[in-house]
Amino acid sequence: MVYHRTTCRLCGSGKVDRVLKMADCPPVDAYIPRSRLGERQELFPIDLYLCRDCGHGQLLDVVSPKLLFGSYIYTTSSSPGLVEYFRRYADDVMERLQLKPGAWALDIGSNDGTLLRHFKARGLTVLGVDPAESIARAATAAGTETLADFFNSGVAARIRQQRGTFDLVTANNVFAHSDDLGDMAKGVQMILAPGGVFVFEVSYLLDMIKGMIFDFIYHEHLSHHSVKPLQTFMARHGLHLFDVQKTPSKGGSLRCFAQLAGGPRPEASTVAELIREEARFGLYDLATYQAYSKRIEEAGDALRRLMEQRVAEGKKVAGYGASATGTVVTYQFGIGPFMKFIIDDNPDRQERFSPGHHIPIVSSKSLDDERPDDVVILVWRFADMIVARNRAYLERGGRFIVPLPTLKIIDAASLK
Ligand SMILES: [Zn+2]
Repeated sequence: MVYHRTTCRLCGSGKVDRVLKMADCPPVDAYIPRSRLGERQELFPIDLYLCRDCGHGQLLDVVSPKLLFGSYIYTTSSSPGLVEYFRRYADDVMERLQLKPGAWALDIGSNDGTLLRHFKARGLTVLGVDPAESIARAATAAGTETLADFFNSGVAARIRQQRGTFDLVTANNVFAHSDDLGDMAKGVQMILAPGGVFVFEVSYLLDMIKGMIFDFIYHEHLSHHSVKPLQTFMARHGLHLFDVQKTPSKGGSLRCFAQLAGGPRPEASTVAELIREEARFGLYDLATYQAYSKRIEEAGDALRRLMEQRVAEGKKVAGYGASATGTVVTYQFGIGPFMKFIIDDNPDRQERFSPGHHIPIVSSKSLDDERPDDVVILVWRFADMIVARNRAYLERGGRFIVPLPTLKIIDAASLK
C-alpha cells in the first residue's frame, strides 16, 4: 500500500534529507460513509524531503493511488470556479503563445475535458488523456476525444505514431501527483512538435513556506516544485523551461512553459529572477525548513492550548471545512479529539465522517442547532468567506478560531 523511495524524484540523487517531520495522516480525502465506520483507517507518513543536489522538495513515501483515489470520482466541471479558471487559462495560453486555429493540443490528465473544450472553442484540434475510464468515455461521448490511459512514454509513442506531434501539451496538477516524472517528461519530449510548447501548472514551494500552507503537503502531492530544480530536470530531458509565471491558485502556483531544447522562443527574465529569489530566500537550505518547522509547531501549540482550555471549561468545540487540507491541520495540530463535529457546506460531505478520527460532518445548520461555543476554521485560507457567511452565528455569541497563519479569534466584537 505504501513504499518508501530513497532517491530524488527529479534528479535521482540519493542525497535526500528529511526537512519537515509531519504527523502521519490517513488518506486525507477519505471521508467515509456510516457503513464503513467499523473500519480502522491506516496512517501513512507525509514527511517532506529536500534533495541536496537539485533542491527539489518532495514526499518519498508513496501511497498506492488505488488506496488514495479508490472509487472517488471527481470531475472538473462539478466545480464552477474551475470552469471559469480554465477559460481564462485557455485565453492566456493562446495569447501568450500566439497559437493559431488549427493547432493541435493535448491535455494530460484531461479529466472531463473542461480545458480542452475551451481550446476547441478557439479553433484548436484537441485530444485528452486521462486514466479514469468512465470520465474519459463520457468526455469522448460529449465531443472531446479522450484516451483512457496513464500518460507515459509508451502511450506518447503510440499517440505520436497514430496522430503525429502536438503544438501544445498541457498538464495541470498531474505534475505534482506523479511518482515517475522522468518518464512523463520523456513522453512530452516525444510528442511535442518543433516549436511546440508544454504548459504545466504546479503549486509553488516558496509560497507554501512563506504562506504557512503546509496543509498542502499530503500523500497525493508527491512533489512541491520550485524553479531551479525544474529547470535542471527539464534540461536533462531535452526540454527548455523558457518562461514561468506566478499565479495565485492554491495559495501560490507556477505556470511553467517549456519547449524542446534549442527551440525558437527566447528565455523570459522571470526564470532567472525567480531562481535568484529562491536562493535569496534560502529555499534550498536546511535552516529554512528548521525555522519553518518551528513556526508550524508554535502555531499548533497555541491552538491546542486554547482548545484544551476551552474544553476544560466545558465549552463545545467544532471544526469548519471537511477537506483534504483540513485533515492535515487536524492531525498536524493533534486537535481531532477536541471537535464534536465538523461543518461543511458541500452536501456530498455531509453525513460522512472524517478520515481516521471519524468526526461527524454536518451542515452549517448545526451552528444554530448545536450552538458550538468555538468553531475552528480548518480550511483557514477561506476564513474570510466563512466568517462573512455566518455572521449570525457570531452575533449569537459564537466564536470562530482561525489557526493560521497565526492564531486569531473572531467574535461579534471583532466584526465592528
Ligand atoms: Zn534532486
